[in-house]
Amino acid sequence: MGVPHRELYIDGAWVAPASNGRIDVISPATGDVVGSIPRGGAADVNQAVQAATKAFCGPWSKYSGHQRAAYLRKIAEKVKERKNDLAQLESLDNGKPISEAEWDIDDVAGCFEYYADLAEKLDESQDSPVPLPMEEFKTVLRREPLGPVGLISAWNYPMLIATWKVAPALAAGCTVVLKPSEMASLTCLEMAAIADEVQLPPGVLNVVTGLGVEAGAPLSGHPGVAKISFTGSTATGQRIAEAAAKNGVQTCMELGGKSCLIVFNDANIEDAVEWACFGCFWTNGQICSATSRLLVHEDIADAFYARLKQRAETIKIADPLQADTRLGPVISSAQLEKIMGFIKDTKDEGATLLTGGKRPEHLSRGYFVEPTVFINVKPEMRLWREEVFGPVLASATFCTEEEAIAIANGSQYGLAAAVISADAERCKRVAAAMETGIVWINCSQPCFCQAPWGGKKASGYGRELGTYGLDSYLSVKQVTSYVSKERWDWYPVESKL
Ligand code: NDP
Repeated sequence: MGVPHRELYIDGAWVAPASNGRIDVISPATGDVVGSIPRGGAADVNQAVQAATKAFCGPWSKYSGHQRAAYLRKIAEKVKERKNDLAQLESLDNGKPISEAEWDIDDVAGCFEYYADLAEKLDESQDSPVPLPMEEFKTVLRREPLGPVGLISAWNYPMLIATWKVAPALAAGCTVVLKPSEMASLTCLEMAAIADEVQLPPGVLNVVTGLGVEAGAPLSGHPGVAKISFTGSTATGQRIAEAAAKNGVQTCMELGGKSCLIVFNDANIEDAVEWACFGCFWTNGQICSATSRLLVHEDIADAFYARLKQRAETIKIADPLQADTRLGPVISSAQLEKIMGFIKDTKDEGATLLTGGKRPEHLSRGYFVEPTVFINVKPEMRLWREEVFGPVLASATFCTEEEAIAIANGSQYGLAAAVISADAERCKRVAAAMETGIVWINCSQPCFCQAPWGGKKASGYGRELGTYGLDSYLSVKQVTSYVSKERWDWYPVESKL
């Protein structure tokens, strides 16, 4: 398939970057160069922030929620019309199996529609009264868009993660400068093309592609944005939060994870193995919320591991554009090297390799890794502590519920956790005890745009999605009126307040 040649999208126009530079797009499935994206820099970011500021002060923030919703619905319609080519582009660029890319594109359309609904509801909830203890006063709340915002997204769900930010920001009345990851920017440029097609007013959505240090850093340190919403690694998130704090700019951080799946001895082994594989190997193992630590009750460990080995070895690794592929390549040669480094270190540290651990023999090109499972992994091992961002599962056994909770929580991260057990009360107890922003019971990874998403500890702060996602792009203003006919008598104040 052809990769569209696009420029930066600033102020409603396609413009070449000031440097005139471009970055090669490499297919992770083959290592071939399949296209290029513009290499934006500080000057382009500055121009985009200026355009977003002009558009914010111009029509966009003044529109009603219903007017903004109409644009979001048009964008959703175009995404649906283009589902097949967007999914193919995503799979080509990022390496995820085409079946998963199709889900993502459906979710992109669904997310724009969901925030269109919330934008409309915003009109109805505007100027809502606040009950006060004094009848001489009346307070109403106005919810107002923050301003132009900077959105910096990751490559594992390129269009979807961008949408998690863009849709609520636009619904709230903010204008946007989006900086996608240079590893996978193609569908974010197509989002700009769709915005152009539906005649979104110029400057409302600006897309500046480029390297993190060249385009991301100037955006995160720009004094003209009201907020930076970031999805990416913990290390980069810390740098961005620091740069934004210097300008008093607020941030939302969706960072890395090392989530734990706990399987109790009353679990159905077949079902639990299926969730364990899906929870870690989906999206080629490159999921922030991947349940990449697996705790199995010692009573069922032998049977569980036998089935897990069998199941992992049947996962189809192939060209991601084939309909029945379940595991594609990881994003880049550097990521492949990093993953192989983890595998080597884990072997050296003495964990047992249950299955995988190498590149598949039938695929000579591209950045493929077999689904890999290590058992007898100790908490002090690197694989247990650090995020791999690849199809590598670390497992250990446990004996009691208390022990499982302590091990699961013994991580610097706090994005998600999962528990599988037939005992509903136990599941509730474990869910309450997890130091994470998300807990799954008897499953792993389902994600709906209606439910808030985000983590604790080194996994970040703030929430995306749901009504929380919209609220995060709004500020609340109290408007208080004196409504009594009586003249205000300030003395004695104490008796009135
Ligand atoms: P990075 O942190 O490397 O990059 C994320 C984004 O930040 C990219 O757009 C990147 O640009 C940009 N960037 C890099 N350096 C800077 C900088 N100095 N200033 C501003 N922007 C910068 O993460 P990855 O792209 O490698 O994504 C993987 C990570 O993201 C994993 O740790 C994963 O857990 C996390 N993640 C978290 C999610 C969540 O919801 N919590 C969801 C998905 C991923 P470029 O790529 O062009 O360098």
